[in-house]
Amino acid sequence: MSLVNCPSCNKKISDKAPACPHCDFSFNQNEENLARTKILKARAYRTKMYRYKMLGFATMALAVFGLVPMLWSYAQAIDYGFNVSITNHWGKYLMMAGFILYVFIRVLMFITKRKHRYPK
Ligand SMILES: [Zn+2]
Repeated sequence: MSLVNCPSCNKKISDKAPACPHCDFSFNQNEENLARTKILKARAYRTKMYRYKMLGFATMALAVFGLVPMLWSYAQAIDYGFNVSITNHWGKYLMMAGFILYVFIRVLMFITKRKHRYPK
């Protein structure tokens, strides 16, 4: 506990006091609430961004799950001398889904970042 000057009446008051006992100026509570809101907002923002990042990794994994069997089939086909079209493989749907979801998440991250930096 320390003493600070009341911004309203300039008398010494405790920095833990919710309001000035001399003039009832309640700056401490407002400042505390503001700081608390700021911390909570920053925490929520970090949690949100972390979740998006994890989702981004998941979509990349999805694309890889489509790509690897596709390349594998393609490599096998070359080995056996088959004339296959790579575009007919089911893996392309996984790749496309993964890519679209990834772009979608990047857009969400961009919007979240903007909202955090420039709050209305
Ligand atoms: Zn005061």
